[in-house]
Parts: sequence; C-alpha cells; structure tokens
Amino acid sequence: LTLQWFGNKNVKVVEAPVPAITEPKDVICKVTGTTVCGSDLHLYHKEIMQLQAGDILGHEWMGIVDEVGSEVKNVKKGDRVVASFQIACGTCKFCKEGLTSMCDTTNSSSVQEKLYGKPFAGLFGYSHFAGGFAGGQAEYVRCPFGDTNLLKIPDSVPDEKALFLSDIIPTSYHATVCAEVEKGKSVAIWGAGPIGLLAAKWSKLAGARRVIVIDKIKERLTLARDTIGCDVINFDEETDVVKAIYKLEPDGVDCGIDAAAFRYTKGLLHGVQRAIGMETDSAEIVNEALRAVRKFGNIALVADYAAMTNQFLIGALMEKGITLRGTGQAPVQKYWKDLLKKVESGEFDPTIILSHRFKIDEFKELYEAFDKKEMGIMKTFVQT
Ligand code: NAD
Ligand code: ZN
Ligand code: ZN
Repeated sequence: LTLQWFGNKNVKVVEAPVPAITEPKDVICKVTGTTVCGSDLHLYHKEIMQLQAGDILGHEWMGIVDEVGSEVKNVKKGDRVVASFQIACGTCKFCKEGLTSMCDTTNSSSVQEKLYGKPFAGLFGYSHFAGGFAGGQAEYVRCPFGDTNLLKIPDSVPDEKALFLSDIIPTSYHATVCAEVEKGKSVAIWGAGPIGLLAAKWSKLAGARRVIVIDKIKERLTLARDTIGCDVINFDEETDVVKAIYKLEPDGVDCGIDAAAFRYTKGLLHGVQRAIGMETDSAEIVNEALRAVRKFGNIALVADYAAMTNQFLIGALMEKGITLRGTGQAPVQKYWKDLLKKVESGEFDPTIILSHRFKIDEFKELYEAFDKKEMGIMKTFVQT
C-alpha cells in the first residue's frame, strides 16, 4: 500500500509494486512508521509545482532494511533504520562540507534553478520540485545513497521516538543553532506546532533564560507553558505581540525563531507558482520578529518560505544590526547521531508532541482531519 496524490485535496491509499534496487547504493526498506508533516499540506493543496498524479508522498519515515545494493556498506538486511527527509549523495562538495540539505546532485528541478540559481537537495515524497523521489507514506521505499541517508537505531529507542529523527528533531535543533540560542539568552518563537515546540524544548535544554511562544491555538500554548515551561502569548487575544514581548523582556529578546510562516495568517497561498507570476507574500511574522528582537539580536527562519515578498521591514534589519538567517532545509545528517544519543538517554523526549496514532489504510482520513485542524492533531505516528 502507498499514499498517492491525484489532485487538489485528493489523496488515496493505493496498491503499488514493491520498489526495486536501481542503483548500487540503493537500499529497499520495509517501512514500520511514517507520519504527515505540515509541509505535506502544500502538496495536498497543489501549491507546489511539478506534482504528478500518482506521486507517492511522505518525507518522514523509518523501517527495516529489506535489501541492499552492491555498494552499500553501512547497513544490512534486518537493520532498524530511520531515513533523513532529504536525499543526499554524500560525496559532492556540499555533502562533504556537511551541508547535506544542499546536496548538488539529487535535485535538478528547473523551477528551483530559475528561482534560486541552484536547487537544494532532493526530498522523499515531495514532487519533482524536490527531485521526484517516491515517499515513505508507503509499505516499502527505495532509499537512494543508503549509506548517507539512513541511520541505524538501537533497540532501546522505540519507533515512536526514532521516527522524528527524520525531520522534526534535527530541524527544530538546527533552528536554535541558527538563531544562536545559548545559556542565559531569551528566545521568542512564532508558531507552537511540532517545530516551534521542539525548538522551545531545545532552547530550554540549552539553558535559555526565558522562552516565549506565540500562537493562537490554546492547547498548543498550554503544552508550551505547562510541559515545556515557556511564557506564552496568544496572538488572538493580545493584539500587539511586539508590545507583549517587550513587557516580558524590556530590551527585546536575544533570539527570534519563525516556526510559523505566513500561511495561516494569509491563508494557504504559499507556493512557487506565485513567484513565477511575480506575486508577493506577506512578511508580517518576520517583521514582528525584527521589531521584537533586541539590537544586534538574531533571527532564524525555519518556517518554509518560497520565492519573494514585499512589505519587508528592511529598516529594522539594518538599523538594529540584526542577523537574519534562513535555516534552509535542515541538514539532518549533521546532527542526527548526537541527537539520537539525547533521545536514547531520555534527555530529549519528542513524544511530548505526539498526539495521535493511525494505520496506513486510514491515511486519507488523516490528511482530511490534519488539513482541517480537526481532532486536535499535533503530530501523528502512522503504523504501516
Ligand atoms: P504547524 O502548521 O503545525 O505549526 C505552525 C503554527 O504557527 C500553528 O500552530 C499556527 O497556529 C501558528 N501561527 C500561525 N500564524 C501565526 C502568527 N502570526 N504568529 C504566531 N504563530 C502563528 O507547522 P510545523 O509542522 O510546526 O512546521 C512549522 C514550519 O516549519 C512550517 O512552515 C514547515 O513547513 C516548516 N518546516 C521547515 C523545515 C526545514 O527544514 N526548514 C522542516 C520541517 C518543517
Ligand atoms: Zn516534515
Ligand atoms: Zn551531495
């Protein structure tokens, strides 16, 4: 079984043949766990170009090695592994520098080349915009460059924790690194989804003095406050978020992280199509961060922005000497061994955000509920 895309809000669980090894570095895995990610909704809504009917979605997955190509050295049949969401070759210039999410060889999207000069790495299950690889919302997946893109998981770490090393654990950690979160600093995080909340948790573990989380979904803010120990701001009740931040931190916060993006404030309009048509998107969260961050502070954008925007508060960036950093797609392989140790020791528990469990044949219903923000879904584990 696989989850395939057929059009706007049209996904179906469909039988498909088990993929075969086509390259000597390929590994075929039997998937044991997968999930749906906020960024899958861009595909669901056909906001990403280069989607094709029958594309198998899913970039967060783990499983058991079923078959290895002749040049695979690090994993063997029967190993329990998690896959990184990006597909890196491991040998190009960028991969050698540890920048696996910027791999130069696994994505030749013409749209990305036109927009960005050079495409970033291929991703599992994210259309031909990201290399055209079949995804992991399936019972079997072909993993190219298995030695680079699979990590062995010790028996002591259950599937429900290991799965999140594919994306949200390293991504949220990378966001705090890019925002220069350190002991004694104050941090504001826009968005209390999986990425924002786990970034809040990493900030606490790094010894941040204060972590402020901004959202409007009450259950998410409660989790931030009661489970992670953050100050929270509900932007539906507090009309001036920046003022509310200054009330808590009179100098402004040292670090800002945008883990929300504009898509919930402006509707789900985000997409490369718009850039090609030279349309613009709002930068309102970035502007809030630019105003709320202290002079010479840091901001990291981990939320997925594509293309271009107008109404960007460039004056605050310049006059306040702020460092504004895009995180890129997070280079998972740079962090995942170290972060696995923190998960294994119990220091970092990603299941604080796990809210629901599903089975693979319920995927269509899951997409519908996740899209409508029904059932209070935060993060799911889908057993295959
Ligand atoms: P999510 O949709 O679950 O959470 C986003 C949260 O932002 C929601 O709770 C929403 O209520 C809140 N929000 C909306 N408008 C806001 C505003 N004006 N101020 C404050 N909060 C606001 O998403 P997620 O899965 O946590 O992912 C967060 C972002 O990170 C997404 O854009 C996702 O695509 C991106 N992402 C990036 C990477 C990467 O490698 N760079 C990887 C994974 C996800
Ligand atoms: Zn994801
Ligand atoms: Zn590479």
